[in-house]
Amino acid sequence: MSNKAHSEAFNTTCCYCGVGCGIVVNKDKNDIVTVTGDMDHPVNKGMLCSKGMNLHYTVNDKTDRLLYPQMRLNKSMPLQRVSWDNALDKAAAAFKTFIDKYGPDSVAFYASGQCLTEEYYVINKLIKGFIGSNNIDTNSRLCMSSAVVGYKMSLGEDSVPVCYDDIEMADCFYVTGANPAWCHPIIWRRVEAHKAENPNVRIIVVDPRVTDTCSIADLHLQLNPGTDITLNYAIGRALIENGDIDLEFVKNHTEGFERYREMVFERSITEASVICGVSEDDIRLAARYIGEAKGFLTMWTMGLNQSSIGVNKNLSLINLNLITGHIGKPGSGPFSLTGQPNAMGGREVGGLSNLLPAHRDLNNPLHREEVQKFWKGTTISPTPGLTATQMFDALNEGTLKAIWIICTNPLTSLPNARWAEEGLKKAKFVVIQDISNKAETLKYADVILPAATWTEKEGTMTNSERRISHLSKIVPAPGEALPDSEIICRFAKKMGFKGFDYSSPEEIYLEHTRLTSKTNLNIAGLDYDTIRRNKTIQWPIDKRTGAGTQRLFTNHKFYTASTRAILHSPPDTLLSEMPNDEFPFILTTGRIRDQWHTMSKTGKVNKLNNHISNAFLEIHPEDAASREIREDTIVVVKSRRGEVRLKAKLTFAIKKGVVFLPMHWGKILGSDLNRANNVTSPILDPISKEPDFKFCAVSIEKYKKP
Ligand code: SF4
Repeated sequence: MSNKAHSEAFNTTCCYCGVGCGIVVNKDKNDIVTVTGDMDHPVNKGMLCSKGMNLHYTVNDKTDRLLYPQMRLNKSMPLQRVSWDNALDKAAAAFKTFIDKYGPDSVAFYASGQCLTEEYYVINKLIKGFIGSNNIDTNSRLCMSSAVVGYKMSLGEDSVPVCYDDIEMADCFYVTGANPAWCHPIIWRRVEAHKAENPNVRIIVVDPRVTDTCSIADLHLQLNPGTDITLNYAIGRALIENGDIDLEFVKNHTEGFERYREMVFERSITEASVICGVSEDDIRLAARYIGEAKGFLTMWTMGLNQSSIGVNKNLSLINLNLITGHIGKPGSGPFSLTGQPNAMGGREVGGLSNLLPAHRDLNNPLHREEVQKFWKGTTISPTPGLTATQMFDALNEGTLKAIWIICTNPLTSLPNARWAEEGLKKAKFVVIQDISNKAETLKYADVILPAATWTEKEGTMTNSERRISHLSKIVPAPGEALPDSEIICRFAKKMGFKGFDYSSPEEIYLEHTRLTSKTNLNIAGLDYDTIRRNKTIQWPIDKRTGAGTQRLFTNHKFYTASTRAILHSPPDTLLSEMPNDEFPFILTTGRIRDQWHTMSKTGKVNKLNNHISNAFLEIHPEDAASREIREDTIVVVKSRRGEVRLKAKLTFAIKKGVVFLPMHWGKILGSDLNRANNVTSPILDPISKEPDFKFCAVSIEKYKKP
């Protein structure tokens, strides 16, 4: 902190994407803040993207903030301002009633990858360790859960093996199902700078759309949606045919290669080329680039994860690193780019319905017992809890009675959003813990709890490369808003549970670190001072030296029982909703450069809204012509679940037969006709339960006034 009379400077971390850029926040005597990139931060070295550099607007503008708790006496009564005690007493009474009558699985918490690690930890402890249900899930389910399973199945644990410094050491990038130029901009700036200095660096981009990321690509494989596994297998086959695999590594450090070889040789490259819509020459060129690489980084996000076969896509990609031996060494490895700022922290504390803290398994009785003894609570249920979309199914079916929603907007972000909204209408009891008085969920709330936001509370986050950073409290929260962890602990005490009497967020954090001792993500004893002193630190921590770990698996010992990485050979059959005569187009959804998620923060900033101010449909000009659609024509996009109505944007950037909608817009003035998730598919990956946001069948027509 500086000693300037009227301004104090604080180091913190950006609260948007999983890149985790360092920010210096300057605060004046009126608590008005400005932000700049932290020049000394190892992630961004002073750079910020458009979202990060405008963060101060979201802190300074408190006009849309929830300021005090509210509740209604019953569903037909209006919301009234009440005290924190009254609101939490009501919530505790309702939860106790449902738990007594219908059991612990009748209640659930639905939280967010934007929660701090301490917040995740106490929510998880409360529901799993004391209420006795595993009904906690977060919007990270919509984002990274396929990658979590992919890592676990291939490497033995949910462990991102690489670090950002590998970018400058790689000479071949395979970027698939991702548009980092827009969605992870600072990582991409590093890739761009590296390529500018080293023209021999090769970049392969795999995407059904031409995106900004393609602008520096040496090769863009514009594959047909959903054919990623077929493509990865074809490249794997070409690598084997060319003798460009690391046989020594495969023999000594992997298992499953014979089956993998059989699988990739089941299809010729010619056949794969037809399925993927990518030329055979380009598939072979991609294999050649990879085969010649000294450092090979694969990077991916939602295009792989948000799929009916998201886990299998992950496995087929990680295989490319394994057969070439490009893992556990500088410049090499499979690198899932995390979407949210602290999805990683949530995974570390086990904050999903099928996880336990420190990467323990819910289905392992010894792990359950270990955690239960540590928490000194109730028996941990062996039954996995409801995942994000399952919670809203269960509300519709009436088996889930009460839901507590924290820091997320499911009515914009869940697939088949009208169904989710029906679920919320049917819920017997809804608690909304949020910062915004504009949240769409508020109208269904029985209790509303105002939360503190970024810069108004203290805690930690972990970014995509396992880097833990500390976030200071810099300005006071408005009105009576409280930090999320404090709200949950106060509620737990109202429920009569012991073990939630923390004196500070750091005490919560230290408890979490104790649970990591003797595990592969060991950070036991890591305190806030140590994190701050190191600026940031990457887990696991070396017990002897106290240093963090840049890169995992440098000894080629993996976290599997055999210590070998596993080459899986899943089928490449897509399980998505297929187009037909009535719904002939494939719809894929995604993000735009200057908006974050459901726009509750970025939507407040004019500069960001100016980039693209309205929802739109991207369509190929030939598809548009066949329907008399021109630029800006209003079109109706329909699926089996609903429709949206918005302007068409004609572009050769998208393949014929494929259309694209941005996912950010929800209800505007009561109308949901911009909400992409009216039409998206309810199909989930069968293992990760991640929704299939990137593939559903739709029809497109010109809008005709009735
Ligand atoms: Fe924030 Fe991500 Fe932009 Fe960095 S790249 S400034 S973390 S939004």
